[in-house]
Order: sequence, then C-alpha cells, then structure tokens
Amino acid sequence: MPSMLKGQILLAKNSGSNASNNPSYSLQKAELYFEEDIKSIQTTDNSSNDFDELIILPGFIDTHVHGGFDSDTMDGPEAVQNLASFHLKHGTTTIYPTTITNPWEAIISALQAVKDVSQLQLINEKEQTHSLPSIPGAHLEGPFISPNRLGAQPAFAITPTTELVQTLLGLDVIKLLTIAPEIPDALEAALAFASKQCRISIGHTTATYDDILPFVNEVHKQGGTIGYTHLFNAMGGMAGRKPNTVGASLADSQSYAEIILDTHHVHVASFLAAFNAKPNNLSLITDAMRACGMGDGKSELGGQEVYIQDGMAKMADGTLAGSLLTMDIAFKNAIKAGLTIEEASRLASTTPANYMGLTDRGTLDIGKRADIIVMNKAFDILEVYVKGKRLYG
Ligand SMILES: [Zn+2]
Repeated sequence: MPSMLKGQILLAKNSGSNASNNPSYSLQKAELYFEEDIKSIQTTDNSSNDFDELIILPGFIDTHVHGGFDSDTMDGPEAVQNLASFHLKHGTTTIYPTTITNPWEAIISALQAVKDVSQLQLINEKEQTHSLPSIPGAHLEGPFISPNRLGAQPAFAITPTTELVQTLLGLDVIKLLTIAPEIPDALEAALAFASKQCRISIGHTTATYDDILPFVNEVHKQGGTIGYTHLFNAMGGMAGRKPNTVGASLADSQSYAEIILDTHHVHVASFLAAFNAKPNNLSLITDAMRACGMGDGKSELGGQEVYIQDGMAKMADGTLAGSLLTMDIAFKNAIKAGLTIEEASRLASTTPANYMGLTDRGTLDIGKRADIIVMNKAFDILEVYVKGKRLYG
C-alpha cells in the first residue's frame, strides 16, 4: 500500500505519461503516491484549500559539507552519522561528507569512515531500517590544493603523486575531488579520478584563465565532468582583463559550480550573476562545519580554533572559515534573492543530482527515489522522507 502526500508539488509539466527528456517543472496541486520510489501522481484542479498549505519538493543534495551539531567528517564513523542526521532535519536527503586538508593518515581514516557509513546505509536502505540521508560517497577537499589559497584549510597541502592518487582510488569512496589545476601533477591526478567517474572541482586555487583552459579541455576530452568549488571563495577575483578562475567558470555554462549562499561568503548580486551565467549548472551547498547548529562561541575546524559570532565562523586572523549554513536556509536565501521555488529547488536538488550523475533522484518524477521534503508556505521543513521512509517530522 503506497504512502500518499498531497499539496503543491513540484512536478514536470505533463507529468506522468509524456514527460520529455528535459521537462520544465512547476508547483501543481496533486497527490503523490510512493513506496521506496514514486509510483504515481494525480494532479487535480480541485479548488479546495487542503492542497494549499504544503509545498512538496525533492530532497536537498549537499555535495560539500564538513560537519554539523558538533560533529566533523574528520572525527570518524559516529560523527559522520551524527552530522548526516543533523542535516537531514534541514531537508538534506543526499549528503557527501567532506574532508579537510590534514595530515595524510587523518584524511585516509576519515575517508574510510565515510565509506563504512555509506555501505551500512545501503544495507539499511534495502531493509528499510535506515535513519540517515543517502551517502553516495565523500568529497575530498584538499590536500591537493594551492598552498597559496588555503582559505580556512590547514597548511597540509601536498601534490598528487601517482602513488597517493592510487591509494585514494583504491578506497573507492571519493565521488568529488577539489583540486587546484596549477599544482604539479594536477592534470594526471584529475584524469585518473575522472576515469573512475569522480567529479573534478577546481578550487582553492591561484590559477589564471590560461592555467584552467587546457586543464578543463583535457578533462572533458576524457569524458570527465568539471565543477568549481565554492565559486568566488578561495579563488581570487575576476576583472575585465584577468578572468581567472571565476571568469573561467562563468564563461562556461556547461561546467558546474557550487556556491555558499549564506550571504556572508558571497554577495547576493554575485550569486545572481552566477545563476544567470549557469542557470542549470549552479548548486547550493552548505560547506557547514561542526559549529553549525551550536550557537556562538569557540569551535574547531581541521585542528584550528574558530570563533562563532553573528552567524559567521572566523579564524583568529579574521578569515571566514566554513559556514554555519543548512540547506533549508540556503534555499530560503535563494528565494529572498528573487528566485522562484522551481529555480531554488533546481539549485538545491536537481542540479546537484545531474552534476553527480544521480539519475535516480533530484526531481519528483515517477520512478525516482521517494526522497521528499514537505514544507509550509514559509519554507520551514515539516517532514523529510528518504527512500519512501519518513525520517523526520
Ligand atoms: Zn569546504
């Protein structure tokens, strides 16, 4: 017996029978029937207002998140579960726990922890005993970044030798790699990762446009997918004669980019410029750290002290550290910036699914996973479903 949700549901126009390959989506009054995946959709022109109160969207997909609720990906399996469970309550139904630049052994053990939790989650989903978001794999942010563009990453940047790359690929858990294209051996490493369907995200970089272009072309030629890590942050600026990394990203509407829309890391106008340049290729992320959800005071990021005040996390030298953002707030900020519900949902769910090759989610089409969030009209999360099971609300 399938479960049913009714309300204003983000559906493909002509959902059901004739949804084309590239449908457009709109809020429609409907009933959505689902088990582990979406079974059927019945739209209605019923004018009764019991369809008005709830907004039903695909679950959020966060491809860049270090922690939350005092847990960090670097802490081990229990912390990975805790941070995933925290972000679930904010609408995240698919999560990529993200490592930070640290000594090599610490990174390897964090990746192993993500892998263990991810595999356990798969078994639990099969038995419908799961209690966490889906964890398809990890995002490796550093150590293969520029020592001159660390941002809030600790100073353990190294170059990706063949041996290190082979060790990482042997773990079979990294789905997204942040890398600076200008460091030695970066292209060889990127091609090795891309050959294993890992996404290649340019970030923490001092690269010029001329560094980036051949790197991107070569990765594309080998069938790889390019993204940009927290666009505008830790990559320098763009000017008319110096496009640099930001210009490379904005000029290429086919590449993906992630953005921290907490209104501290980027100005809303910069966000809108990015959205207009790549309306189908921009993803909202949190880049949240352990202090997220914990209130003001002292915290920690990658072994460094961080100070939390006024919704910002800063290093001792004033550098903006990771964020305190959750996906529901990022979604609300996108709406405040002027996006429609459909556009904000695209950035929080559909685009990251497309980016990561998750063809089974990211929209509420028939046959997709029942990863669903239910909101009120103020966009507060009321219920969260993962693979058809209500895990929150
Ligand atoms: Zn990060």
